[in-house]
Amino acid sequence: MLNFPLLERTLAAHGVTLDREALMRLDLYAERLIETNRRFNLTAVTDPDEVTVKHFADSLVLLGKTELPAGASLLDVGTGAGFPGLALKLARPDLQVAFLDGTRKKLGFISSVLEETGLAGETLHLRAEEAGKQPKYREKFDFVTARAVADMAVLVEYCLPFVRAGGLFFAMKSAAAEEEIQNAAGAVRLLGGKTEQNLLFDLVENTPRRIVFVRKISQTPPKYPRASAKIAKSPLK
Ligand code: SAM
Repeated sequence: MLNFPLLERTLAAHGVTLDREALMRLDLYAERLIETNRRFNLTAVTDPDEVTVKHFADSLVLLGKTELPAGASLLDVGTGAGFPGLALKLARPDLQVAFLDGTRKKLGFISSVLEETGLAGETLHLRAEEAGKQPKYREKFDFVTARAVADMAVLVEYCLPFVRAGGLFFAMKSAAAEEEIQNAAGAVRLLGGKTEQNLLFDLVENTPRRIVFVRKISQTPPKYPRASAKIAKSPLK
């Protein structure tokens, strides 16, 4: 299913190499994604080359842009069918990856791929703004990722509460997100974050992508995250 040469070539340009076992696990994931997608909607992208680049390379490129130490904990917020969280787990089984989404069916899909590949990972069927209030999850993760989940000001309120002091949140965004990122500068500060990098790069030719690195420099004030309706109605400024 996956186009291995395309995946390896694309990732090599960003300094990422995958071993044979990782490629096999990722291929099984891609197969299950397309099969399951026939029964319920997991992805709009189904062409093998597009899946390879737009889902898999786009998720795994993170490994070339930062160092995730062995055994680090990572929460993928709004993971959907598992991007980037499940792709990262299958490439780097040493990471302790947890998967959060408000939709149970998608988490069921992730659990089945983990089971089939013999790997473990916690799935959290919760809204981010609820989970972020729970002591079990609040300020507990070394790293948090989110791709295609919400506008930056809303996204940092969802995600920064999960990051431990000194940890990092990676917002995986489109190239067009510059303005929403600028508009979220106040929210980042208010929630205890500091934007360290706003990295714009070509994933492949003419495919610009962006990863924003937000460092957690102090605790998130207890009143955040606010209730869903408040976040939607008045995003932080
Ligand atoms: N990250 C995946 C990707 O890049 O393919 C999925 C993106 S999909 C467009 C957005 C996902 O975020 C959906 O699965 C949705 O259920 C989830 N989501 C959105 N807001 C959420 C929230 N507040 N709490 C939990 N999940 C949320």
